[in-house]
Amino acid sequence: MSIEVKGVNKNFGDFVALEDIDLHIPTGRLTALLGPSGGGKSTLLRIIAGLETADTGTVTIEGVEATHLPARKRNVGFVFQHYAAFKHMTVAKNVAFGLEIRKRPKAEVRKRVEELLELVHLSQFAHRLPSQLSGGQRQRMALARALAVEPNVLLLDEPFGALDAKVRKELRDWLRRLHDEVHVTTVLVTHDQEEALEVADQIVVINDGRVEQIGTPDELYDRPANDFVMSFLGPVTTLGGQLVRPHDIDLSDDDKVAGSVPGVITRMVRIGFEVRLHVRTDTDPDVHVTMTRTHARGLETGAKVWLVPTKGALTVPALDSPEPAAAG
Ligand code: ADP
Ligand code: MG
Repeated sequence: MSIEVKGVNKNFGDFVALEDIDLHIPTGRLTALLGPSGGGKSTLLRIIAGLETADTGTVTIEGVEATHLPARKRNVGFVFQHYAAFKHMTVAKNVAFGLEIRKRPKAEVRKRVEELLELVHLSQFAHRLPSQLSGGQRQRMALARALAVEPNVLLLDEPFGALDAKVRKELRDWLRRLHDEVHVTTVLVTHDQEEALEVADQIVVINDGRVEQIGTPDELYDRPANDFVMSFLGPVTTLGGQLVRPHDIDLSDDDKVAGSVPGVITRMVRIGFEVRLHVRTDTDPDVHVTMTRTHARGLETGAKVWLVPTKGALTVPALDSPEPAAAG
């Protein structure tokens, strides 16, 4: 049992938003739909939710053929980037809403709301209004509200996208821990590769309406199917016609390692523990190399150095895209 998406196509006018999407989303796991903005992630999520219909293809949720089921019959919980809370209702009332319209007994509703507020660490804010919460707290309330009706599937569309970096990182940790507690099948849309790598069991990379690759975070990072996946999941640089990760380049002050190419350090940037070097070689005007401060000791701008990919480093032929798009 799981979510199965088969042969889904979606056009808006003559614009192809999704092309032949086949996808298996395992039960009880957290799957991230990751890719650049405009790639079709939200459209796919909305088709799974029943908020959008596919032109062709099928969606099966936990064994139920759901392609033509309206959203309210799919038993999915949904959280968007900008969560529309009921402004005049307390946090507890917002969380209770879905249960009350389903006419659940009062005592049951009260108990469930208490449990949920505890789960999202908002018990002490039960009687506040949404406007009296921080952005991060509001998104946690949104999650509690989505979980209240015990959905088969939780669909999250960039739920932390509007929050600042520090809060986003905290909520990411929190979401992973929450998921380890409740194990509800979750699909998280994000354009942030770090978010996907950190929280997801499975990542689906989506670009230009197509699935580029599906795998665990490690599979995608260590064995990317192509140059797009490689450059989207982490920084890359071009050395001798190959894409390589900047931390997978060995730099030395002699040419003893076979295959190493000479270059000159043109710039050094220090950020925290990391030093980012820019090196000009005969073939590549700006190779990026990263290393720790300790390893960079003694290096300086203008120095002559030799570069070679580390033994066993992942390299992928750089096609006609010398400047791969930055993630995000
Ligand atoms: P993502 O979530 O990956 O950023 P979306 O699924 O929102 O991408 O959008 C994919 C593409 O489809 C975008 O180019 C977007 O402009 C287009 N699109 C999405 N919804 C509509 C719509 N209702 N009408 C026309 N174009 C749409
Ligand atoms: Mg989107």
